[in-house]
Amino acid sequence: MTTWIAETDKKYVANTYGRFPIELVDGHGSIAIDSDGKEYIDLGSGIAVTSFGISDPDWVKAVTEQLGKIQHASNLYYTQPCAELAKLICERTGMSKVFFGNSGAEANECAIKVARKYGEDVLGRKNPVIVSLENSFHGRTLGTLAATGQDFFHKDFQPLPEGFVYAPANDIDATLAIAKDSDAVAIMIECIQGEGGVNVLEQAYVRALAGYCEESGTLLLIDEVQTGNGRTGELYSYMNYGIKPDVFTTAKGLGGGLPIGACVMGERVADVFGPSDHGSTFGGNPVACAGAISIFSRIDDTLLDAIKLKGEYIRRKLEGAKGIQSISGMGLMIGFLTDRPAKDIVNDCIAEGVLCLTAKSKVRLVPALNIPMEKLEEAVEIIKEVCAKGL
Ligand SMILES: *Cc1c(COP(=O)(O)O)cnc(C)c1O
Repeated sequence: MTTWIAETDKKYVANTYGRFPIELVDGHGSIAIDSDGKEYIDLGSGIAVTSFGISDPDWVKAVTEQLGKIQHASNLYYTQPCAELAKLICERTGMSKVFFGNSGAEANECAIKVARKYGEDVLGRKNPVIVSLENSFHGRTLGTLAATGQDFFHKDFQPLPEGFVYAPANDIDATLAIAKDSDAVAIMIECIQGEGGVNVLEQAYVRALAGYCEESGTLLLIDEVQTGNGRTGELYSYMNYGIKPDVFTTAKGLGGGLPIGACVMGERVADVFGPSDHGSTFGGNPVACAGAISIFSRIDDTLLDAIKLKGEYIRRKLEGAKGIQSISGMGLMIGFLTDRPAKDIVNDCIAEGVLCLTAKSKVRLVPALNIPMEKLEEAVEIIKEVCAKGL
């Protein structure tokens, strides 16, 4: 890497990211290549975004074909990829309607607006309240920041929008008491808290929440921004719980690398929005949607089974390994607590040619859904060595 890029970036790009000292310039599949020509096995996928790896040929073809036709049309007109993607998502999930935006935060903003309007229109609540969970992460806009149940993210950005109360994850009595006390119109969860440390919600808890929402008319909103699109071994993570939300949101892996977010609405809320209630200039962009179709249509049962097997392989290898304390997650979304600080593990992995992420105090792995087994084996061996170093 040249010192120019680090210095120029530091000087001119807003100082919001702590970057690792490598410049990625190229890649193919689960191999990322830096500006020195060094290769890395990619277990981070640009934070669970590049679902079929870097420069995946099918995705590139879908995107470039669409680019050669029309790159943007505004939502004043129809475009084929937008309609087709919405149809695919609804048909596979039994949901009713999709609103497209450009990011996870934007998808969640939409879900919050749906819940508020449903609260007013259908439940007759003034100033509707939404329950979200402690340690959650829903985005960086003011609304989604308010939904995020972590003081750390709130402290410098007051005043935040009102109308959110926080409940402890996996404590059904406390969560329902808070929902009832606040007369909440919706409960918003991630089935696996990604940024919060790859914490998997318990089966009984999620089922009980879904049961309560079903009976009471409260909406169940599930944030599938990180967990969606095959990541956990099911198309959406809620499918691991045998429940169905009223609204789910997704983004990250849906686009395979281009910005897209989707707020997917079930029957109860399908008609909450009318014309001009919500909108987005870039939402439903034909290039992003064409790429997403090529991703979404390849997430079939064969792939999902392979995701589960690869996830189990990682767990089996890391369970009880030297320097590794515990493992959490589902499918190819895995977190593990190490004796050494997670950041040190990630840095040492970079030196050894493996890219991984942190999530709070854990190391997080979110490889491409189709990572070749031999690359995964190689990467896991390196991780084990790095975790055992100096012990
Ligand atoms: C990443 C993430 C978001 C925010 O998505 P952006 O695309 O960065 O706005 C929201 N919710 C969850 C669960 C996420 O992992």
